[in-house]
This record gives sequence, structure tokens and C-alpha cells, in this order.
Amino acid sequence: MKIKTGIALSIISLLTIDVFSQSTVIDDYQKFFAIGKSNNKEIAIIRKYKSNEKINYLGIGLNDLKTYILNAENAKITPTPWKTILEQYDSAPYIKAIKAAKQKSTSLQNAGIQHGDSKEKGISLTIDLCPSHKPLDRIIFSSIIEEFKKFKTPEPVALSITGKFLKTHPEDISWLKNETDSGALEIIWINHTYNHKYDPKLPLDKNFLLEAGTDLDEEILLLEKSLLETNLLPSAFIRFPGLVSDAKVFNEIIDYGLIPIGSDAWLAKGETAKNGDIVLIHGNGNEPLGVHDFINLLKKDKDAALKNEWHLYDLREAVKKEFEKNN
Ligand SMILES: [Zn+2]
Repeated sequence: MKIKTGIALSIISLLTIDVFSQSTVIDDYQKFFAIGKSNNKEIAIIRKYKSNEKINYLGIGLNDLKTYILNAENAKITPTPWKTILEQYDSAPYIKAIKAAKQKSTSLQNAGIQHGDSKEKGISLTIDLCPSHKPLDRIIFSSIIEEFKKFKTPEPVALSITGKFLKTHPEDISWLKNETDSGALEIIWINHTYNHKYDPKLPLDKNFLLEAGTDLDEEILLLEKSLLETNLLPSAFIRFPGLVSDAKVFNEIIDYGLIPIGSDAWLAKGETAKNGDIVLIHGNGNEPLGVHDFINLLKKDKDAALKNEWHLYDLREAVKKEFEKNN
């Protein structure tokens, strides 16, 4: 009898593990600012939440712009107002990037950081996943994997994800996760807001995030929470829906600890990609021209890529390099 009970228990625990490996329960997700350390790296903590009844912090490496999750039981943190972090760490690449982005806060379109380090040979690829009924353009990813497979290192791509795309495309998200788990891709998740509201009848300055009644907490925090619930890590980056913002929304977004990312090469609009550019295409089935142009760009640079002279750059690395210089 004892043995039978043991088997039954182990089956239950296997089932439990399986369910939790697919989704994590996240509660009390909120803005929270502090300075913490992880393996001697200084982290700007920007969120606090409960996961399985334990308090965690989410932070951004002040020098490497990577995302860190710190467990409140082990982490030593010093609560610090966001304004103080901006002042005290103004020589760190994360804060320098925020301040540089802020200098371009007033343009209605394409505000924020538009390129990385132009000395690099290659580009940072960003792929927007706005809400869509069509499936993910998997060909973008399979072409990248095929082209760079001989190097056996994960190729970095940044995906601007909306909550609506995340919730309605579970199979595409698992497919991307498998490509990450296999070591073929490294995905940096950019916040593209939860709802990505858009009304074709409204003028730009009243559209997207500027639409009356927009709840920024929902747009920003609910997206991050949804990523964590899916076992994906939010990053320090945001791309405004439609690339549209005004100075007010821009400053409010920065106060969430996020770096707005524009683009200097939106391929479907006929813009060409130069070294160091942040390239934009849509991967949600609605921009075949951009996907086609990107595949052509890969083909054009194929020889250089095979000789290790043309790369896809990690957006965090590209921004870090641009802002760790002394200018
Ligand atoms: Zn979009």
C-alpha cells in the first residue's frame, strides 16, 4: 500500500511541476525603486512582485542593461527614489541611455534611442509583434538560425511584444521558447504595451498611447507581468505603439525605468540598414514587405556573416557600447 501511495504522490508532483513549468503565478506586481547587488553587479531595481508567495525584485544592470531577478530573502537592497538613481548613477550606461533618449522626447514619431554603436559591423534587429490575427512570420527566425548556425551561439533578436499577441499566439510563443532553449536564439523582450490601442479614425497626436483614457499602469505593468507569468523576462526597453509619443507620455514612461527605442531603419518604409542601426520589421504577418527586405539584407550580407564580419547585435550590448563611451 505504501508503495502505491508513493507512486500516486510522485505522479501528482510530476503533474504539478508540469503545470508550473508552463505558467508562474505573479501577484502584487508594482513599480518599486532600489539599488541592489547580484554577483557584485550593481542593479537598479524597478519592480517588486510576489511569485509563489515569495517577494522578488526585477532590476536592470546599471552597466550591462541585462534583466536580473533578485529574491528578497537573499538580496540586500537599498530602497532609493528613481530621481536619486538618475542623479547618482548618471555615468552608468543604463542611465546615460535614458538621458540620451530624453533629449529626443518631443518628437511625435520615432522618439528615443535610434541606433547603437555605429562602429559595429552589423545591426540590432527589432521585430514588432503588434496585435494580429495572423501567425508569427517564423521564416524571419528560421532564416537567421540557418545563416548563423555554424557559429553555434544564440543569435540575439529583440521582439517588441504586445499582451494581445502574447495571449493569442501560444503556439508561436512556445516555438520561440524552443528555439531559445535549444541555444539557437536569444530573445530580448521589448515592451510594446499590453493593448497597443489604435483607432484609424483618430489623428496621431490623439492615437496609440496618446488616446484619451489610456491607463499606463495597465499598458506597461500588465505586459511585464504577463511575460513573467509565461516564464519570459521583461527588459529595460519599450517601443511606443505606432512609434508615437509626446513629451508628457515619454517622461511618464521613463519614470517606469524604461528606455524608449525608436528605429533608424524601418525596412518596409524603404529605409536602408547601416552599421549600428536599430532595424525595424514587423513579424506579425502584416508586413510581408519588411520580412522580404530583411531576408534580402541577410542574403546581401551572407558572405560577410559567414566570415564573422557581419553580425546581429544584442540590443542591450549595442546600447551599452554606445553609452559607455565618455561622450
Ligand atoms: Zn506596433
